[in-house]
Amino acid sequence: MPIHEKSLIRPENIETHEELVIDGVDVSGHWSTFIKTRVVSDYNESLQEEIAALPGGEYIHRCWQCGSCTNSCTVNAINPDFNPRYWIYLIRMGMESELLRDKDIIWQCVSCNKCTYACPRDVFPEGVMKATSHWLEKKGHTPKSPSMHFDEVFTEQIVKTGKIEESRTIRRFFARTGQSLMQDWMIEMVKRMLRGLPVGMLTRMGLATFVAPRTRDWSKASAAIQEYIDEQHEKQAHALSLAELVETARNDAAA
Ligand code: SF4
Ligand code: SF4
Repeated sequence: MPIHEKSLIRPENIETHEELVIDGVDVSGHWSTFIKTRVVSDYNESLQEEIAALPGGEYIHRCWQCGSCTNSCTVNAINPDFNPRYWIYLIRMGMESELLRDKDIIWQCVSCNKCTYACPRDVFPEGVMKATSHWLEKKGHTPKSPSMHFDEVFTEQIVKTGKIEESRTIRRFFARTGQSLMQDWMIEMVKRMLRGLPVGMLTRMGLATFVAPRTRDWSKASAAIQEYIDEQHEKQAHALSLAELVETARNDAAA
């Protein structure tokens, strides 16, 4: 008998006997496929609240598991292991250790938002994927993802100057993620810009790489935004019990 959603069952939990006879009936091979009994005891009962405390995860409680997000997902189409519906299920059930098995692919969401438009319950699955990636990083399960580095570079620039200067953003993002600026596609893009853009615009762009453009009288707005960001980080750290985690790690290291 086929096992429904077999791809969700880890191979080590599936058992098939090459030769098996039960009550005189030969059920060898495919016919003797069983799912091993398993007991989950390490639930994190706060997992849903922790994800909901991070930007994008607020509406995870609305999910009714219809699967439309996974069916419409760009990444799932090329990698069936990328399954937003399943991860939302694990989070709502508090099955943290199961979720951690997929920690290295959750960040691969490309933010196309096809799931967001498909979701009948306005869960914003794309936001849940972002929140889950941030949760993995904040809890120390994964290093910062490239998209997290990009968000940080982007935010820092806005807070500091009130403007975005693309070449500065790209240079800093590349530096933080250890990438070379001299990549073939980058060289080609710059060549095309030099060929196609008006001289006035190129001059302004060139100057902006040396002197960052600023919004006039930005300092008060900058301070208010920074205060809000700090407040949010504090709330998130509290919701995720990060202080306790650090304390436990210190004690473990001392022991
Ligand atoms: S489409 Fe929405 S309601 Fe359906 S499984 Fe995905 S998140 Fe849940
Ligand atoms: S936003 Fe992410 S989860 Fe949603 S469909 Fe696109 S790749 Fe999939």
